[in-house]
Amino acid sequence: QYPFDVGAIRDDFPILDRLVGGNPTSPGQDETDDVDLVYLDNAATSHTPDPVVDRIADYYRSYNSNVHRGIHQLSQEASVAYEEAHDVVADFIGANGREEVIFTKNTTEAMNLVAYAWGLAELGPGDNVVLTQMEHHASLVTWQQIGKKTGAEVRFIEVTDEGRLDMADAAAKIDDDTAMVSAVHVSNTLGTINPIRELAELAHDHDGLIFADAAQSVPNRPVDVEDLDVDFLAFSGHKMCGPTGIGALYGREELLEAMQPYLYGGEMIRKVTFEESTWEDLPWKFEAGTPSIAQGIGFAAAIEYLEEVGMERIEDHESLLAEYAYDRLTDLGGVEIYGPPGDERGGLVAFNVEGVHAHDLSSVLNDYGVAIRAGDHCTQPLHDELGVAASARASFYLYNTVEEVDALVDAVREARDLFA
Ligand code: PMP
Repeated sequence: QYPFDVGAIRDDFPILDRLVGGNPTSPGQDETDDVDLVYLDNAATSHTPDPVVDRIADYYRSYNSNVHRGIHQLSQEASVAYEEAHDVVADFIGANGREEVIFTKNTTEAMNLVAYAWGLAELGPGDNVVLTQMEHHASLVTWQQIGKKTGAEVRFIEVTDEGRLDMADAAAKIDDDTAMVSAVHVSNTLGTINPIRELAELAHDHDGLIFADAAQSVPNRPVDVEDLDVDFLAFSGHKMCGPTGIGALYGREELLEAMQPYLYGGEMIRKVTFEESTWEDLPWKFEAGTPSIAQGIGFAAAIEYLEEVGMERIEDHESLLAEYAYDRLTDLGGVEIYGPPGDERGGLVAFNVEGVHAHDLSSVLNDYGVAIRAGDHCTQPLHDELGVAASARASFYLYNTVEEVDALVDAVREARDLFA
């Protein structure tokens, strides 16, 4: 039934076997009841399989050292592993090479890097930056503040009632004064898969650039920067079986060449005098200070792990679970699901149950071992548009099963009946 052996995958994630505490206030439970963990909060962060943990442990056990500057053997080994991790990321997303891949802390830092290094230098009054109403705060707040600093206008492409991007509005908002379009590839709230290539075409037709927030797409489906025709793209390692503290910014080489550094210090310079400094080659020009070495190496290990399973098969698996969850939650009744239909979305479902606050729902689900997210998912303005303060979100990954979706639906039914 699955596109790959999910049981074998689960064996690589011991955390999935753990139990979580039962709650004595829940029907049929007392404090001695532990329940199986059903982890459905993957859009927030994913788990890390043993081969990735091992690769990180091996770095610390065998060749922990600072990179770039050492002549000694350990430093050389660490440098090769860390630098080659950039090649792995570049290959994974179809970039031309490591020059186009900058390691950052996460998607948020990648967004800020471009906003500060490119935006502060290039934007001014009369320019506009076009976002979507479904942007994550990582992009929304960043461009909003850069707009305030530079005088550039920030516009928002509207979302239709079905949770899709209104492309007629996109065509109207993107104009000759548009310097940048920054759009989320897969919405972390609606699950909408946005037509990034079409947005890129609109941006480029008006001599603008496009930045794709791929935090919810690169972990879950094949993504190729040339196919999407994007100028910048960002994603986070921790949402794709890698460690926290590492993410990547892809940028077209000539754009990155033209940009001034965002952070200054060691490791990013070539020659320094008391008066002047010159910069290292790409990508190191944008990686000031000691980088996240173990995390970078773990990031590459995570990508190799995902590639072994196959990104197309991971996409199929998540679609299967998302569609199944969408249908079952719809059948339950009294559940409002946000975003497009089940067969048109990324691997997540955000919803509200009539009469139950999302936080209460999440807390009851927790009693059943079901870990979901409740809140605004860093999309407050979108929630305002939806007319709700918060929603519950279940998000799936390669190790999740149909039985776990059933556990989610059973627990949602219990919660609904409890509050009825
Ligand atoms: N964009 C989207 C669409 C996201 O879902 C997230 C994470 N929730 C981010 C950006 C930010 O990622 P990070 O916190 O790793 O910087």
